[in-house]
Amino acid sequence: MADRHVIIIGAGLGGLVCGKFLSHRGFTVTILEQSTQAGGALQTFVRDGIRFDTGFHSVGGLDRGEPLDLIFRQLGVRSLPWFRMEDDECIGCSEPFLRLSTGWEVERRHVLEPYRKSIWRLEGGGKTLIDALKTGQQVLLRKKVVAIEDRTVYCADGSSYRGDFVVSDIHPLTTMRMVRDHFRPAYLQRLEMLSNGPGAFTVYAKLRHGSIKHIKHSIFVNNDFMIHFGDEVVEGYARSLDIVTFQPADRERDAYAQELIRKASVRLPGLPEAIEKYWTSTPKTWERYTGTPGGSAYGICKNSTSDYLAPQTPLPWLFLTGQNLGLHGVLGTSISAINTCNSISLL
Ligand SMILES: Cc1cc2nc3c(=O)[nH]c(=O)nc-3n(C[C@H](O)[C@H](O)[C@H](O)COP(=O)(O)OP(=O)(O)OC[C@H]3O[C@@H](n4cnc5c(N)ncnc54)[C@H](O)[C@@H]3O)c2cc1C
Repeated sequence: MADRHVIIIGAGLGGLVCGKFLSHRGFTVTILEQSTQAGGALQTFVRDGIRFDTGFHSVGGLDRGEPLDLIFRQLGVRSLPWFRMEDDECIGCSEPFLRLSTGWEVERRHVLEPYRKSIWRLEGGGKTLIDALKTGQQVLLRKKVVAIEDRTVYCADGSSYRGDFVVSDIHPLTTMRMVRDHFRPAYLQRLEMLSNGPGAFTVYAKLRHGSIKHIKHSIFVNNDFMIHFGDEVVEGYARSLDIVTFQPADRERDAYAQELIRKASVRLPGLPEAIEKYWTSTPKTWERYTGTPGGSAYGICKNSTSDYLAPQTPLPWLFLTGQNLGLHGVLGTSISAINTCNSISLL
């Protein structure tokens, strides 16, 4: 088993978790990431000295013995500064995640249940988790993979990497379209038939000091949008918040942002005046940063077990991982990574 080399395409959560588990099992791992930073949808950015999370607000299932608690202990990231949140506040919607995404029935059991038991955040946000996961791993940045052939991965800068196995953390259809080896066309046709969920439109707002009290939970409104507060608190007041909707309208960015801010002010009176500055991201932003087709937030829709993809592809050395396989989110993506690693370890 030792000395077997795995090339992983993409340093999103799926790629990094696979890399950790495979290294634990004696594989040598190289992760190739197109971007200038690892993390994919868990990236953070800083504006005006304030850190904003992008695709990471909270996780469920971290109480002792719950699924993510067990996985994070194995990954060595349970000891990070996680803290428990209050229960979400729902105004006009009972099952926010279920309805705000795409109504996937499987979400109810596997993604929502852990959230019902406990909701957690991490000091420093997604960046803290990503930094811990990439420690000790060989992650090569600015390595955009453009072709895959015969266990070898080719990058846009002309470099190539050969492994005994290749794992792709990027969208399955994008992956298989890069493959030059022959494989049965029915597989590609099946991937082409799968649809992706919607992308997110987010308003990231910097608040004037002393304007809006910090709230230690998320607020879901009318199955339409959600509000998350940043972690930074000064004398009980929030420094930032974001408003996210999974129903992006085909509208000019600023007009749409203003509309969301106005709607959010029903719950947070004075919000428009409290915002000193704001930035926005659209599904196109996501597509540009993570390569996800259409900027889909949660990837391929799964409405029943029939749409679940296996980690194995028709090529015996090429495997898939990431949120597109099973469930999305930190928990779903981590479980998919375990499935992928098990499939490889058994060979
Ligand atoms: C707005 C939003 C809010 C969210 N909130 C939460 C939340 O609160 N809690 C939660 O649990 N989950 C949340 N999620 C979901 C969670 O972020 C994702 O399920 C998870 O991060 C997906 O990880 P991944 O590894 O599958 O994909 P990605 O993060 O997309 O990783 C893929 C990686 O591959 C890289 N890549 C792409 N193409 C190439 C190429 N050709 N060559 C090399 N590298 C490439 C990308 O740059 C990226 O780093 C949210 C998502 C969104 C969009």
